[in-house]
Amino acid sequence: MTQEPQLPSATAPPRVDADPAFEAAYQAAQKSAREGGIPIGAALARGGAVIASGHNERVQNGDPIAHGEMSALRAAGRQKSYRDTTLYTTLAPCAMCTGTIIQFKIPRVVVGEARTFGGEFELLRSRGVEVIVLDDQRCVDMMRAFQESKPDLWAEDIAEDTAE
Ligand SMILES: [Zn+2]
Repeated sequence: MTQEPQLPSATAPPRVDADPAFEAAYQAAQKSAREGGIPIGAALARGGAVIASGHNERVQNGDPIAHGEMSALRAAGRQKSYRDTTLYTTLAPCAMCTGTIIQFKIPRVVVGEARTFGGEFELLRSRGVEVIVLDDQRCVDMMRAFQESKPDLWAEDIAEDTAE
């Protein structure tokens, strides 16, 4: 990544695991889980400040397009530019969300985990998006529990036809 850091005053890399935007994404995922929905959350941040967060709303609103990332971006409303933003998500972004990240020219994505779903890192990186994977155990546990308890719902969300 050749892009200059956005925060010239920072002398040490920020502790992303203590990042409030990542926590906002995680809390949004937990809220969705409590509602019986798919536990994937996201948040958009600028300069360390959370603009908005959101979670998957497939179950809650019957909305197949409302992945966590899409919900957070919708909640953030119109942005003149995304070039100084970071998108946080509890799970590796799918092709749809990756396309939106590329389209909006979001330069950086912080991902909770990519063990339970590989996502589209290759595509993101090929388009110059910086991808940081936290490998957060809470996110792994949250997704594993969901995938084991509701395999059909999970298959539906990632457009995998369930085996007959
Ligand atoms: Zn997605």
